[in-house]
Amino acid sequence: QRRRLVAVAALPAITDDGVAISLNANIDLPAEVDEARALGADGVGLLRTEIQFMNREDLPDEDAQYEMLRAVVEGLDGRTVTIRTLDIGGDKRAPALAAHFPEGPNPALGLRAIRYSLKVPRLFETQVAAILRAGAHGSIRILLPMLTSVGEMRQARNIIQRTARRLRRQGVAIADPLPPIGAMIETPAAALGADALADHSDFFAIGTNDLTMYTLAIDRSDEQVASLYNPFHPAVLRLIVFAVTAARERGIPISVCGEIAGDPRYTALLLGLGLRELSMSPGSLPRVKERLRAVDVAEAQTLAARSVAAHDAAHVMVLVEHFNASL
Ligand code: PEP
Ligand code: MG
Repeated sequence: QRRRLVAVAALPAITDDGVAISLNANIDLPAEVDEARALGADGVGLLRTEIQFMNREDLPDEDAQYEMLRAVVEGLDGRTVTIRTLDIGGDKRAPALAAHFPEGPNPALGLRAIRYSLKVPRLFETQVAAILRAGAHGSIRILLPMLTSVGEMRQARNIIQRTARRLRRQGVAIADPLPPIGAMIETPAAALGADALADHSDFFAIGTNDLTMYTLAIDRSDEQVASLYNPFHPAVLRLIVFAVTAARERGIPISVCGEIAGDPRYTALLLGLGLRELSMSPGSLPRVKERLRAVDVAEAQTLAARSVAAHDAAHVMVLVEHFNASL
């Protein structure tokens, strides 16, 4: 079984009709780099940084953050690592921060991710400094989570530029030129405003986990409604189309890094919606590659058009199952 997975990793990620797809890994730690490479990742499409802040009472300092990031960047040997800034809050808790900012009445709609970073700039600047320093050792991109407005992107970009200027003044080696700065598309506001956001972003990464949750107003961790959580919902697909169209018009790269990117049931649909870059947990790479190699993109576009126009998720699921069964 292992031998088969590694054999698939050596095959090119090209669809049946010759369209090249970039497959990347979602990871949390340097220890996952070897597995990602063994299973054929082109790079890291999502490095979640919050793990270093969870399950401990204090905060990691700049050097500790830098060492962790550098280990990943060096392990990727020149392939690009997309480093996401802190996505703390909601279901991801950092005890050291919770002490200063008690949880609000509705954590999923509260102080989370980029909102935290902009509210506590010192925390953000420390992380940005660690990221920029790690960028001196390879190719990186900086990804901002949970954006809902252009203003957040502008503010974050200012802080990143300011931090870079300070480090250069101090003679510290950092990424040069400044790395691309991208937006997670994981709120309906970001998806519907993707055209405006694209003017201020160097790339997009669609986070379908949160995008589905916020679009359908369903918390997956709430057992009583979890069964209603469904990324096949046409409303979610339409938001993805919005983001893909905006990215294409502005000529910026766009990927999907939510769970569905690693679920082969969704592969044809995502390719049909226009995506050419997917990022997933390393273990999913071979299965998704096997699937995409069987897909004809022109046919997948017809599937996507029908799915976007469908009346409900159940109908989309029938269309998708029928399509996948024919591969
Ligand atoms: C997402 O929301 O789809 C995503 C990739 O981010 P996370 O799962 O870390 O919230
Ligand atoms: Mg998310």
